[in-house]
Amino acid sequence: MSVAVQTTIARVRQSVAEARAAGLTVGLVPTMGALHAGHASLIEQMRAHCRFVVVSIFVNPMQFGPHEDLDRYPRQLAADCALCAAHGASLVFAPPVNEIYPLGFATTVDVGPLAERLEGASRPGHFRGVATVVLKLFNIVQPDAAIFGQKDAQQVAVIRQLVRDLDVPVRLIVAPTVREPDGLAMSSRNAYLSAEERRAAVVLSQALNWAIAAVAAGQHDPAQLEAGLAERIAAEPLARLDYARVVSADTFEPLTTLDRPALAVLAVLIGATRLIDNAPLWPPVHPQAATSDSPIHPAIAPRTA
Ligand code: AMP
Repeated sequence: MSVAVQTTIARVRQSVAEARAAGLTVGLVPTMGALHAGHASLIEQMRAHCRFVVVSIFVNPMQFGPHEDLDRYPRQLAADCALCAAHGASLVFAPPVNEIYPLGFATTVDVGPLAERLEGASRPGHFRGVATVVLKLFNIVQPDAAIFGQKDAQQVAVIRQLVRDLDVPVRLIVAPTVREPDGLAMSSRNAYLSAEERRAAVVLSQALNWAIAAVAAGQHDPAQLEAGLAERIAAEPLARLDYARVVSADTFEPLTTLDRPALAVLAVLIGATRLIDNAPLWPPVHPQAATSDSPIHPAIAPRTA
């Protein structure tokens, strides 16, 4: 099994035009490669919506800060193409950096205050890089639909804002987070973890599960929930908290009461590896669904691809 791979914008446009001429709808799955079961689930879900599925693989330099992991981010195109083929992708778009950012490139996309909060505050310029590359990919592929993972919840909100504000004619699909059996959200960055760190990394999903159960048991004070999350992260010696917040699921603004769709969002350093995760807190789940007997709550239960 193999999948067609294109590295230039012109060739991708040609392939997409041919698919359209054959009457196929077009779906886009943007990724940075080092593909895992989370990405595979995105490809499969997109196949249920569109007949021609384009997976982009591009480690986007613009979304990395100067001291981040751009150089060591895992790159494994051959294995990624095999995964894409196995899960039914039609085309892989894997451009070199100068195809996306040629000499003289200058225009960037700034989505406003949403991009300055939380991930945006910890990683200045990150969402400008994300919004710019995603808008470019939308313009290159011109898909009917594009899919993004709830794992990167603030990224989803940023892209919703971008699509709404700039009238981009694309349907957004949001996919649930795929987890390892112990609850750790799958991520290409999990590959950085030592065996000891990998064991410690489960603290993120455990803390989120605690918060879900606490809300179901009647704790509706965001400040208390944030303190409880921080306490659980602090109990893991290999973990260092960046943030643990309860925010509006739409704007990512902090909440003082749980009166609208809310997320618990976490960013935690495990050793030198920065991991993020999130879980819906409001509306609450049924109390019986969240007890100490169910250590991994169904709301963020591991999913197999
Ligand atoms: P990345 O390659 O990390 O930029 O991710 C590409 C896409 O896959 C983004 O929309 C992510 O939100 C999504 N994704 C990453 N990890 C997961 C996961 N564990 N489950 C579902 N989607 C994911």
